[in-house]
Amino acid sequence: MSKPQTHAFQTEISQLLDLMVNSLYSQKEIFLRELISNSSDAIDKRRFEALTDASLLNDEEELAVIVTTDKDNRTLTISDNGIGMDHDEVIDNIGTIARSGTKKFMQAIESNKSAGDDISLIGQFGVGFYSVFMVADKVTVLSRRAGDEQGVIWESDGKGEFTIGESNKAAVGTSITLHLREDESEYLDDFRLKHIINKYSEHISLPIKMLGSVPLDEEGKPKEGVEAELVAVNTGTALWARPKSEITDEEYQNFYQGLSYDMEPPLSTLHHKVEGNMEYISLLFIPKKAPFDLWNRENKKGIKLYVRRVFIMDDAEHLMPNYLRFVKGVIDSQDLPLNVSREILQSDRDVKKIKGRAVKRILDELKRLAKDDNDAYQGFWSEFGQVIKEGMVEDTDNKDNITPLLRFASTHSGNDEQTVSLDQYVERMSDDQDSIYYITAESYQAAKGSPHLEMFTKKGIEVLFLTDPVDEWLVNSLTEHNEKPLKSVTKGDLELSDEEKKEQEEAKVELSSVTEKLTEVLNDRVKEVRLTNRLTESPACLVADETDAGANLERIMKSMGQDAPTSKPILELNPDHPIIKQLNVESNSFADWAQVLFDQAALSEGAQIKDPANYVKLVNKLLVA
Ligand code: ADP
Repeated sequence: MSKPQTHAFQTEISQLLDLMVNSLYSQKEIFLRELISNSSDAIDKRRFEALTDASLLNDEEELAVIVTTDKDNRTLTISDNGIGMDHDEVIDNIGTIARSGTKKFMQAIESNKSAGDDISLIGQFGVGFYSVFMVADKVTVLSRRAGDEQGVIWESDGKGEFTIGESNKAAVGTSITLHLREDESEYLDDFRLKHIINKYSEHISLPIKMLGSVPLDEEGKPKEGVEAELVAVNTGTALWARPKSEITDEEYQNFYQGLSYDMEPPLSTLHHKVEGNMEYISLLFIPKKAPFDLWNRENKKGIKLYVRRVFIMDDAEHLMPNYLRFVKGVIDSQDLPLNVSREILQSDRDVKKIKGRAVKRILDELKRLAKDDNDAYQGFWSEFGQVIKEGMVEDTDNKDNITPLLRFASTHSGNDEQTVSLDQYVERMSDDQDSIYYITAESYQAAKGSPHLEMFTKKGIEVLFLTDPVDEWLVNSLTEHNEKPLKSVTKGDLELSDEEKKEQEEAKVELSSVTEKLTEVLNDRVKEVRLTNRLTESPACLVADETDAGANLERIMKSMGQDAPTSKPILELNPDHPIIKQLNVESNSFADWAQVLFDQAALSEGAQIKDPANYVKLVNKLLVA
């Protein structure tokens, strides 16, 4: 055999290892959960690959994870007969290629050193293996990939380098030996190990075995020449396949934790066995808290697909739409073929039905919560509301099921918390109000301070604040509710009473020279200048034409690096405002007033102005004039 070679860890991994080696975290025991979970994944993979290449698995072989200790040599070994890794895979997986989560994980634990629980999130970031260096000063990995003749040996003390060479590992699979540090003897204690396995790995649907005790002779001493046998320390059955009535809350929670690495219990657990033409089991969880990568578009979705208890794939995107990507769980089909591929899933009618029902279950449950447990629902909404809103655009078939889930802040809600439902809004509407009014803006503050609200506030009309970026898309698909159209307060004309119309006509005549001259002076900045009764305090505001995108959407699109269809706004004037009344078309400063009014209107709705320095100069000039 050739000599082992030494490699340096990739820089970020080295940094992570430093953190592990020097760690004082209280939850070191989670390394065992990480290793067992890796073993379980590897066994799932072997079973899956064997579906298309039967030579990879011998029917006689029992698939299991085995945990053993050697007290004399102070080692703990976790072995599996999973898929194994070849030389290159070992190098990639544990050494030279950093996972995208490496840095994020380090930031998460560094930023919050006191929270002992954080270390436990390591699995969520895809770097769980390295947690072994919290308890071991040397780690040996022996692995042989299914189908390969030769195995590999990897060794490291976690200090910058590892060695890798060939090995004559007899069996397929991976075996990881931890040379425990002096102060970590507790992980040699079978009782302690069993406790940890039960705490974290009960959901693993494979046997996890440890050596039992040797049978005793008549005198109560271990029988000579008889070896202890391996016995399973977990139930090892698929939790979801067991009858609901026999599963405790704690078991559900443990299972959920195994899937999500979320320390909090889930908000809801939905477990259903469906029988009839299509048979399957679904066990779905709605989390309480959003995961760190909720906004990562490449984020894996949380559903694992099984076919008759055989794991088929993670991240089963065809079983859950994108806007419900935070839902975790398992769907186990009785009818799909074992060799089902992503392509088949995409077009399979049964899969579409399963997905449809799963989505319906989640939405129904959220509706139920919104009705029966408002506090819990508000908690959910503040974590996931923005994602649910995506559903209005992504899943138009379910629009009517999503609409009752929506919550907004409004002129009547008192703070920036999104608590107002559309039904509530409609209920509060007065008889003569025929539209649902909203304002889209960059933030709650910008919406609240917007001059567009002045007349609505005066008349006591409620306006919804739509301040999440997704809201611009939301209002495109949510055009009405209970037959009441949704209308932006910044777009189009206002409905006026006859008296108001008359007043406006008079003012129009009176100020016609002002509006004309302003249109001329601001020609390249505005589409039109006109009078409004939208305003009671401000002199002017900007509105978009009914058919234009609007300033907020243009801002969002630009910030996403997309081409925004720039449209010129309409400048509206408050005919009752002293500044407007005093505007003199003959005056030398008229052009300066025009620019200042325009910039002010933009500023007051939270927009940026093109040339702030010039604005300040003009204002100062007018102040001393
Ligand atoms: P994660 O399991 O989240 O991907 P880890 O750091 O725990 O992150 O493991 C890195 C990779 O190493 C795994 O994705 C897997 O490919 C490989 N690996 C780890 N343990 C085993 C094992 N027991 N058998 C086969 N492959 C393994």
